[in-house]
Amino acid sequence: MATSDVMDHTSNSALTDDVHSTIADGRVEFLFAQFVDMHGKPNAKLVPAHHLDDLLTDGAGFAGFAAGDIGQGPEDPDLVAIPDPRSLTVLPWQPNVARFACDVTVEGQPWPYCPRTILRGALDRAKAMGFEMKVGAELEYFLVRRNADGSIEPADALDTMEQPCYDMRALTRSLDFVSEVANATTLLGWDNYATDHEDANGQFEQNFSFADALTTCDRAVFFRYMVESLAQQRGLIATFMPKPFAHLTGSGCHFHVSLWDGDRNLFARDPSEDPRGLGLSELAYQFIAGLKAHASAYIALTAPTVNSYKRLATGAPTSGATWAPAYISYGYNNRTQMLRIPEPGRIEDRTVDGSCNPYLAATAMLAAGLDGIERGLDPGEPNSANLYTLSAAERQARGIETLPENLLDAVRELQRDDVLRSALGATRKGDYVDYFAEVKMREWQAAHEQITKWELDRYLQLF
Ligand code: GLU
Ligand code: MG
Repeated sequence: MATSDVMDHTSNSALTDDVHSTIADGRVEFLFAQFVDMHGKPNAKLVPAHHLDDLLTDGAGFAGFAAGDIGQGPEDPDLVAIPDPRSLTVLPWQPNVARFACDVTVEGQPWPYCPRTILRGALDRAKAMGFEMKVGAELEYFLVRRNADGSIEPADALDTMEQPCYDMRALTRSLDFVSEVANATTLLGWDNYATDHEDANGQFEQNFSFADALTTCDRAVFFRYMVESLAQQRGLIATFMPKPFAHLTGSGCHFHVSLWDGDRNLFARDPSEDPRGLGLSELAYQFIAGLKAHASAYIALTAPTVNSYKRLATGAPTSGATWAPAYISYGYNNRTQMLRIPEPGRIEDRTVDGSCNPYLAATAMLAAGLDGIERGLDPGEPNSANLYTLSAAERQARGIETLPENLLDAVRELQRDDVLRSALGATRKGDYVDYFAEVKMREWQAAHEQITKWELDRYLQLF
């Protein structure tokens, strides 16, 4: 646990000067002090901007038990959220309000259940090894409306094609919404560079540039909140749920990962010097091997909900492919793989979905990759096959293993993984992994207790 720099936020005077000058012109009237719980749910208090100095020094207090799964009971002392000045984000659609991403402390100490603090600890350890992790996140979402009977449907009633991906007309019909999101992302200075209609009806992806891991995770949390808020203003729902419609492709949140030393991308190599031709360094291959070795366990953090595993399947939705991984594999610019190499110098992990807590997902991937580096693991040869059509026997012959097929299996794997256990850290009541597992087992159990329509249809009159 990096105890030193939780409070360091305020001692970096250049950063706080920046914050003061952003706020000094009087446009920002209110500040959100925001942190997330285990599930990545943003919690915040709204503080008037004239209390900026108090907020930076003393933080904002919360009754932790009320805030979600963040390791507290009703008997515990307040959580105190301390702003990170680097994260100041003015709400583009409401520029009199800005938010700080915060780290949580309790009684002056870093709180080991704070996901952002967990990631910062992991990044510090990587830094001590000479590595800075960069991440780009591709947050896919559905824009839907909720009907009176509780069902949902794409917000655009005309969006019914079997293969709507990239359909210019469908994108045009939603231009009003997606261009508002795109402009907002540009205003934030995140470099929005593309928007597309994705593979499912009602589904979109809006991209912004990669950054250091902490910044991207702060942005991912804000992006979800922003898109959800803008949709709500229109009476719509934007959802990052992995699989809202059984017959359509789900939503991923692919993480593009690389390790850097200053300006040098340590994963990059001239493809002509890479025997496998992918333009990756030996370090990157070791990182891949680490990801492969721990995928069955870290997927509990990159795909952390019951619903996540309905996305991670090979059976074709109406568009023809799920585009989501089901097997532990890597290779080429091939979207059937768990790890795709879209271009030299980075690894795309396709297990990740939008229901993840980005801080925990990044922590887990970093720990897995670094373990591969520390142990000098070899990922084997990249795979070029269409993994959706390989038979079980062919997969076995190639040594391709299957990812956990549900949350229960994934959480059990996670609990067995000592590398991830240590990366996620210890709390006052045992390892964070066990707390995570306890919460997720309850989630699994709650889902399992449901009697679904499918069960009634199948079993009611079978016997
Ligand atoms: N929606 C797909 C997924 O669930 C990804 C499609 C794409 O490659 O952009 O991962
Ligand atoms: Mg996509």
